[in-house]
Amino acid sequence: MQDEPTLEIIVASSAGTCFGVEAAIEIAEHQKKPILGPLVHNPQIVSDLAREGIPILERYEGMQFLKDQGHNEVIITAHGYPKQLKEELTSRGIKFHDATCPVLLKWVYRKMERFEKEGYHIILVGDPEHAEIIASRSYSQCISVVYSEEEIDALPDNLGMTVAICQTTITKEKFQRLVDYIRESKYPDLRAVDTRCKPVKNQQEAVQDLAQWVDAMLVIGGFNSSNTTNLARLSSEFLPDNTYHIDSPSLIQQEWLDGISHLGIAAGTSTPKSQIEDVKNRVAEMFKGKVVVRKGNSEDDIMSFEADAAVEF
Ligand code: SF4
Repeated sequence: MQDEPTLEIIVASSAGTCFGVEAAIEIAEHQKKPILGPLVHNPQIVSDLAREGIPILERYEGMQFLKDQGHNEVIITAHGYPKQLKEELTSRGIKFHDATCPVLLKWVYRKMERFEKEGYHIILVGDPEHAEIIASRSYSQCISVVYSEEEIDALPDNLGMTVAICQTTITKEKFQRLVDYIRESKYPDLRAVDTRCKPVKNQQEAVQDLAQWVDAMLVIGGFNSSNTTNLARLSSEFLPDNTYHIDSPSLIQQEWLDGISHLGIAAGTSTPKSQIEDVKNRVAEMFKGKVVVRKGNSEDDIMSFEADAAVEF
């Protein structure tokens, strides 16, 4: 008699929501006020909040519109909000509940303030269209944002003392590549401070470890989540044909499970733990054989945030 096939599911250590996202959800559920944009980049969380009767407005909604619609209290999302717009909300008498992640409020913005005081021009490496970067850049007067070699080419030849910091969710590889390019092509003395947050660092390292020995990887999270998209990109460097980015268990295809014995699961910092459970259950239903689930490392190490843990290189 042939042995029943076994599939081992290994969930990447630290997969799923980070403390910043969990705190933002708590604020939204407690305050139940309209949110300026999607609270986090995960469709399930956004639709759960909408079902609870919490309206999602345009992120940069006009102040007059807010007043006209009677929105005297709003919630700012985990990505942060431009400083000038926060001031405008206050001056118009619109109270805001700030769900900006503490990593940004208490660490990144403070670092930027310190660098500026020390006379540095800040080069922020991140997606200029992303809400986090739109907010972060407003906290300095001496700042340039770059996300490609072409944007670096367009920087002035001399900016004095320069320091590079990065979007919290960028990959280490991309930050390093662009820092190297800035040093080679523009400012050889550039300082570089890795401002990726700890949960993102942990998740990126975990998916890189896991992708080296599993047969296929499911990366769960919103398609608009920068962190999840980067996890899928990192996984596909090892599993180019077997990395599947999904935002719902219903997207899992039977053929992805055929002939494999080890399936990795990674999930972005905005992916609820319940969604990871749903995916595991769906795989267990679909796999024709025995399924064993292994847990990764404890999450305890990502819940502690060390305020000055930034690595310079
Ligand atoms: S990914 Fe990092 S910066 Fe973003 S909410 Fe989570 S802890 Fe904060």
